[in-house]
Amino acid sequence: MDSVSPKILDGKALAARIKEGLKKEVAQLTAEGLTPGLAVILVGEDPASQVYVRNKERACAELGINSWKHHLPADTSQEDLVQLVKRINADPEVHGILVQLPLPAQIKTEAVLDAIDPAKDVDGFHPVNLGLLAAGRPGIIPCTPAGVIELVKESGVEIAGKECVIVGRSNIVGKPLAFLFLQEHGTVTICHSRTRNLEEVCRRADILVVAAGRAGLVHGGMIKPGAVVIDVGINRTAEGRLTGDVDFASAVQQAGAITPVPGGVGPMTIAMLMKNTVTAARRTVQTLD
Ligand code: NAD
Repeated sequence: MDSVSPKILDGKALAARIKEGLKKEVAQLTAEGLTPGLAVILVGEDPASQVYVRNKERACAELGINSWKHHLPADTSQEDLVQLVKRINADPEVHGILVQLPLPAQIKTEAVLDAIDPAKDVDGFHPVNLGLLAAGRPGIIPCTPAGVIELVKESGVEIAGKECVIVGRSNIVGKPLAFLFLQEHGTVTICHSRTRNLEEVCRRADILVVAAGRAGLVHGGMIKPGAVVIDVGINRTAEGRLTGDVDFASAVQQAGAITPVPGGVGPMTIAMLMKNTVTAARRTVQTLD
């Protein structure tokens, strides 16, 4: 591939295509009497979380998926939140439950995530789903890592046998993504805040995914010519502009394919959430058969 004109991986366009397919599937399911439904729980007034929740509600409306928003005050107790989750677990109209993170300090995130019925855990953060993923068994796959895999496939680069380097080891991005790359037969390295020689490890990558939450952490000098670069990071500049973890201007000179921020991984995360909700709805009838 020509290293001076890399392929920009348009997550917005890919997400739109995926949502178009899902919209037809939802219409068909609805005609059969099963409208997929997503409940979103938001605690507090974090402005970024409010934007994410709004985008998710919009996507549901666009696709014909039912959605319910539960907006709780910032001082909600862990007990009250867990009780709400349990009530929604029992609601047959709700196929997916999403608790928007981060939660206020008085609430233990793990206690809330553990309370979600794994069959309705459309974020794929429940330890049962993470365990199934690690074991290579069917479960619900976290949305952002699933979106990253779709974007790599969109680049046309085969994952099998490639050096896949992930910067970031969180439970919601880095770790689950490592398992997905393994399933696709990639050779996986995970870097984190204590990795030595980050630059050197990144330069080995045929496929480089950066999910550290550090603006500009990765620059062109850390990228192997022709590599696929997926930027998961979402950071806000002093002027309020969104920017990724990759210095796009220098990286674009080296990469064979690269995602922009915004318009790369973000829209794919939402498309994958919609896909997980439709799949969770489908599975409720499959288990009744
Ligand atoms: P996190 O804070 O939980 O984890 C960050 C990881 O990066 C940690 O494992 C840490 O060890 C590593 N790290 C931090 N500084 C580093 C450094 N200097 N060198 C090497 N590794 C370093 O973050 P997260 O929840 O995984 O999110 C990561 C980023 O991705 C954030 O910017 C977040 O906003 C973004 N994000 C985007 C989407 C999306 O849909 N686009 C979804 C989830 C997260």
